[in-house]
Amino acid sequence: MNIHILGAHNIESKNSRYASFVIDGVLAVDAGALTSGLSFAEQQRLKAVLLTHQHYDHIRDIPALGMNFYLFEKTIEIYTTPPVREVLSAHLLNDVLYPDFTKKPPDKPAILFKTIEAGQPVTIAGYEVLPLTVNHAVPTVGYQITSPDGKKVFITSDTGPNLADCWQQISPDLLIIEVTMLDKWHSFAHQSGHLTPTLLRQELASFHKIKGYLPQVVLKHMNPLDEKAIKAEISAVEKALNTKIRFGREGMQIKI
Ligand SMILES: [Zn+2]
Ligand SMILES: [Zn+2]
Repeated sequence: MNIHILGAHNIESKNSRYASFVIDGVLAVDAGALTSGLSFAEQQRLKAVLLTHQHYDHIRDIPALGMNFYLFEKTIEIYTTPPVREVLSAHLLNDVLYPDFTKKPPDKPAILFKTIEAGQPVTIAGYEVLPLTVNHAVPTVGYQITSPDGKKVFITSDTGPNLADCWQQISPDLLIIEVTMLDKWHSFAHQSGHLTPTLLRQELASFHKIKGYLPQVVLKHMNPLDEKAIKAEISAVEKALNTKIRFGREGMQIKI
């Protein structure tokens, strides 16, 4: 399995992009950097996009992807929970902000929404996909994706602490998990449903206690303005857990 990180940060600039990951060139998770991060040929290879939640930094490229697939004369499948689909239909693909590509063109619309439910596994393009509820400010799922040869990645999406229920249901080789802000923002992290380095340490310790191992860990959704200081706090976490933790970055390819 190859995981291509298109966007690894929570704010955007020339050098930092919103959340987007592509598995083996065919399965995308979140759309914060899908059109800006992939060529037209790469976009046309996509079989499906899985959305984790409705926040702008995770769905931003959906209207652009709709326009591209309209002009490619192809259909892209977008998997979401019902609340995310409702928000996209009401606010983005509403024929006001941009065309409703779920109806255009009428005979073969550019976007086909598919509904997923937390806890219900589905097979998409040969991959087993398990959406699981995580703890964020709006309804959010993380995804465990299992390739046909049995490799597993879990992408948490944005989440706060207390992920023990998730850990019980997954067994990833690779965990892509968020760390958004520094330890000094502990209260705000709790309130907004995000992790700090110390909260990450507690979640990884909980994973180890429940599963008896730690997977490879790659971080995402960092605030780039504080990334250097976050790195210093994460090195203390590495020492405490005696494990290596990598920072995701735009363009990174991870093989498992
Ligand atoms: Zn969010
Ligand atoms: Zn986010």
